[in-house]
Amino acid sequence: MKIKLTNVFHNTETYVLTKDGNLSARQVKKAKKRLCPYRDCKCSGSLGTRGSYIDGFICHDGTAKLNVIGTL
Ligand SMILES: [Zn+2]
Repeated sequence: MKIKLTNVFHNTETYVLTKDGNLSARQVKKAKKRLCPYRDCKCSGSLGTRGSYIDGFICHDGTAKLNVIGTL
């Protein structure tokens, strides 16, 4: 499925493709870079989302498990 991630602070959005809600470390890096490209910015969590209905828990190996906190 295609999942939309948004960051209302920078007004950015990106899509990630996932089968089971898990993201690879590479997908996490890419999403974060698109949503919040500023390294020192504290606007968002480790996934780069803010005000999104989807959040993510980042694992120690850089992969993430998406967490749906609402519906679009
Ligand atoms: Zn930011």
